[in-house]
Amino acid sequence: MSRFLSGLYASLKEYVPGEQPQDKKYVKLNTNESPFPPSPGVVAAVTDEEVRKLCLYSDPESKLLKAKLAENYLLESENVFVANGSDDILNFAFMAFARENGAAFPDISYGFYPVFADLYNIDAKIIPLEEDFSIDYKKYLSCGKMVVIANPNAPTGKVLPKNEIEEIIRTNSDNVVLIDEAYVDFGAESCVDLVEKYDNLLVVQTFSKSRSMAGARLGFAFASKEIIKDLEKIKYSTNPYNLNRLTQLMGVKALEEQEYYDNNCKVIAANREFTVAELEKIGFSVIPSKANFIFAKHEKLSGEKIYQKLKDNGVLIRHFTSERIKDHNRITIGTKEQMQVLINKLIEIIGEEEK
Ligand SMILES: *Cc1c(COP(=O)(O)O)cnc(C)c1O
Repeated sequence: MSRFLSGLYASLKEYVPGEQPQDKKYVKLNTNESPFPPSPGVVAAVTDEEVRKLCLYSDPESKLLKAKLAENYLLESENVFVANGSDDILNFAFMAFARENGAAFPDISYGFYPVFADLYNIDAKIIPLEEDFSIDYKKYLSCGKMVVIANPNAPTGKVLPKNEIEEIIRTNSDNVVLIDEAYVDFGAESCVDLVEKYDNLLVVQTFSKSRSMAGARLGFAFASKEIIKDLEKIKYSTNPYNLNRLTQLMGVKALEEQEYYDNNCKVIAANREFTVAELEKIGFSVIPSKANFIFAKHEKLSGEKIYQKLKDNGVLIRHFTSERIKDHNRITIGTKEQMQVLINKLIEIIGEEEK
């Protein structure tokens, strides 16, 4: 810390992203990326001609991209917000909607929520998950704060039923309810269609997971026109050109090739069920997941040990050190071949430990 940093940030603990090692090639199952490349049209979109246009600013209104999202999700462009990754949108939402009343979110969820709360000095009501890692929706009814829930939740993969989410939205009409649907395309039910019914609902999604564009940084959100205007106000007060030309272009192309991504999601869901069955055979208990990852715990080996041994063997998974979840690991679902490597390595590791 330099002597120039504002004292406001003296105790701020920044978000720690999953490892992105550049030293050697791993079977990378640690940050919930897609194992598949973007669709052909996205790859072909980045022509020399488009690169030459980088001398010009991007469209600050992202008109084409918003229109395409509106069309695909049966809303209007004025109900759509786009930004540089959904982290950008979460940042704006905490800044815009939680500074007076505070925010409520689960103790085990996306690790960025408490960081944003901390960054803006927001009063955070952290609500513990139940013993089985489920969310008890009753604990979020009429809570007087912005509610933030990832659905499916991360890192558990568990889903909150839509009727329970609707109750949370209905009973918190004086605050924004933010549903983070980063993983919704892998088998959960979206709340996007509730946007027309509730003016306090903000649904956030991303191109990073199901649409294979983590490195392009593109997040989007749906809400009432008023909420979208508020987010635009924050955007124009910080970084109007937060989406570069190529990312906007690739986003439009991706939305034109939705079938390709739907098919990838089906493959991932099938690989997930395959992996769960194989892991259960070798002593893991796995929480039922609707995401592109699973959260698994072994009957004998610690989470730390499994993580470390796999890393030594060229397979990266995500280990968390917090007390409640330190014996679980989050494993991204990749291709069938990648999952087979994971399982083979685990069989070796468990075998060695039992010798
Ligand atoms: C990955 C993830 C995000 C961030 O996605 P980006 O669009 O890449 O910024 C947001 N929320 C959850 C729950 C995530 O897992």
